[in-house]
Amino acid sequence: MKKNRGVSIAVLLFVLNGLFLSCGFFYLLKQNILSVREVTEKQTEENLRIFGRSFVNAVAEWIDDDKNVDSFLKKFDFGEEEGFFSGSAENFEGSFEGKEFRITVVAPDGVVAGDSEVDNIHLLENHKNREEIAAALSGKEGSAVRKSTVSKDSVMYYALPVQTKKGIYAVRLSVPLSMAVYFPANSKKQIAKTMLAVFVVIAFLTFIVSAYIVHQIKKLETLSGEYKNGNFDAKSTVSGPKELRKLGNRMEVMATELKRLEQVRKDFVSNVSHELKTPVTSISGFTETLLDGAIEDRDTALHFLQIINVQCMRLMAIIEDLLTLSRLEKDNKKPETMRRDVLNVVRQVCARFRDKAASKNINLVYIIEESTGGKLEAVYCMLNEGLFDEALGNLIDNAIKYCPEKTEVECKVKFIASKNMVQISVEDNGAGIPKEFRERIFERFYRIDKGRSRDMGGTGLGLSIAAHIIKAHDGKLYVTDRQDKKQGACFVIELPVISISE
Ligand code: ADP
Repeated sequence: MKKNRGVSIAVLLFVLNGLFLSCGFFYLLKQNILSVREVTEKQTEENLRIFGRSFVNAVAEWIDDDKNVDSFLKKFDFGEEEGFFSGSAENFEGSFEGKEFRITVVAPDGVVAGDSEVDNIHLLENHKNREEIAAALSGKEGSAVRKSTVSKDSVMYYALPVQTKKGIYAVRLSVPLSMAVYFPANSKKQIAKTMLAVFVVIAFLTFIVSAYIVHQIKKLETLSGEYKNGNFDAKSTVSGPKELRKLGNRMEVMATELKRLEQVRKDFVSNVSHELKTPVTSISGFTETLLDGAIEDRDTALHFLQIINVQCMRLMAIIEDLLTLSRLEKDNKKPETMRRDVLNVVRQVCARFRDKAASKNINLVYIIEESTGGKLEAVYCMLNEGLFDEALGNLIDNAIKYCPEKTEVECKVKFIASKNMVQISVEDNGAGIPKEFRERIFERFYRIDKGRSRDMGGTGLGLSIAAHIIKAHDGKLYVTDRQDKKQGACFVIELPVISISE
């Protein structure tokens, strides 16, 4: 038995669910933070622009009046300077005030002329190549976000050109984005709490659902165990979900079929033994009698030997039929077929039985029924000629066997255009097959009248073999009333047709 390795379905569901939901939740959160960040960055840039624009004129005045821009910037109290935000203050949203900006003024040659925060501006390198400064010195406003060399923070820079008598200066305002993107600490806590709550709920629900499913699967496991032990009457008690309930019902159906097959197998074994035993008993009985002295009487000995011979032939016939059946059932393989004209093949089979029919004074006639278009010339089907010959031969043989002397057996071929198939029927004037036996006669060894069949050398396997052969040709074999409703049997073979010629 295989070792029961692998992860339990409950654990699998739990881990997968948790993983997927956590990933989804984190993704949403990240998207949210990113969009908050984007909006805040835009707003920060706008604030820097508004503030800067209101500030450039003051800087221009300081430069034109030859004032020390650096000390002015350091002394300047933005919060209290009246009129700085006049007209634009209402647009000025945000979590910072003017004094949180760092302001840098850069001369046309890139040298820093003043900085609100850096003490010794002479140590600062030339700013000419900074993206936003380069834009401002060329007369345009420019912005940039990059890591500050001082604080290692992401910083937003916004630079504006200032037209002075000494040329275009640049006024640059900057603010660390961490200050601008305001994310209150308690909202982080809130997110953590929500996530925990979601996780607990999911874990709980996953546990309940998977426990339910696992319980139902265990029921199926128990059921299959019952079937394995041969208790085919066990019923599925799975209550849901739908798929598992269906699986349970399917298993029940399969078990019923298994039970039937098991019965068929048992019947077959007992039938075969019985069928073989009858001739063997007879052979051994007559042989013993011969050995006991009957061999001395030549006539009696001859008679007994003839009986023994007949019984041996009977044994051979049964064994041959059994081998044919087992060949047909082997691997459920389809026989090799070729395109053949059914009219021709049926004609040949009939010819083969003409002498046997004549010995009983039976007239075996072959009739091709006209199709709507006119006289049929050929009807092509995919046939394994040898097997088809055997199937049709069994039907004609039975018809001759089971109908009285001096009657007629008709073998008719008819093309049914609407179904694109051909019907080959064999009709006789015998006792016919009562309706209640019409399915059973195709079972192995089933005979309506056992004694009569045996007397005629029947093995009880002919119809079963014929049905197998026709099924392997994708056709059908059944028995029905004669077309003219007179007494007698009518066996019909139906085969799919490839083409016809008229
Ligand atoms: P068997 O070797 O006994 O003929 P089959 O499988 O060919 O075995 O037929 C099964 C049974 O069907 C026969 O024993 C017989 O009772 C019945 N049967 C078959 N063909 C006919 C027929 N043409 N007329 C009457 N009964 C038939």
